[in-house]
Amino acid sequence: MAAARQVVPGLFVIPTGIVNTFLIDAPDGCVLVDAGLPGRDADILRGVAAAGRRPTDVRHLIVTHAHPDHIGSLAAVRAATGAAVYCHPADAPIVTAGGPFRPLDVTPGVVNWLVWRLFVRPILRRFAQADPTPVDETLHDGQVLPIAGGLTVLHTPGHCAGQVCLLWQAHGGVLLAADRIRRVLGGQMVAAIEKLMGLVLTAVAVEMILAGLKRYFIGDL
Ligand SMILES: [Zn+2]
Repeated sequence: MAAARQVVPGLFVIPTGIVNTFLIDAPDGCVLVDAGLPGRDADILRGVAAAGRRPTDVRHLIVTHAHPDHIGSLAAVRAATGAAVYCHPADAPIVTAGGPFRPLDVTPGVVNWLVWRLFVRPILRRFAQADPTPVDETLHDGQVLPIAGGLTVLHTPGHCAGQVCLLWQAHGGVLLAADRIRRVLGGQMVAAIEKLMGLVLTAVAVEMILAGLKRYFIGDL
């Protein structure tokens, strides 16, 4: 597993297989955004250590949405850190119960269907249930969390009813978009396929682009 790396000062990406967890290292307590598939808690805690922090330095666990590749290790990370768990009320019952997960629709297109059948669905089928995790605080559109200098909650349903993006007010604005903007395959492979087949491959339609941001980061790099 690739090590955690700093993308801008105070923000680390922690690879956890098919998705990433993000760590915001703030003086008032660290924030973890998402918690990977089940069994990835050791990867996440190694990433926290690589950022020079202890598990108990993590005070906030923010869930962007209740899919198994984002809440799979949430209960274990919560147990290790003692951090408060945040998510949107639409997804809170799924987080609390550890499932059942909502069925996913695939973006139209033969390539998307193939990618879904061959790569994504087999992974998700192995994880029909996550460990139940209590939700300490629900998130609402437009809310500014007074942590890490300000985290604005943007409710962006579509990929998942309770999906939120987080706009960190540091560095001129950093959008943590999670699965709101994503590609299933790596960028190079996508580019190669597009070149070969003349296709534009998007696994999930992009419905929102925030212009004027200095940077944004994709949940599934
Ligand atoms: Zn998702």
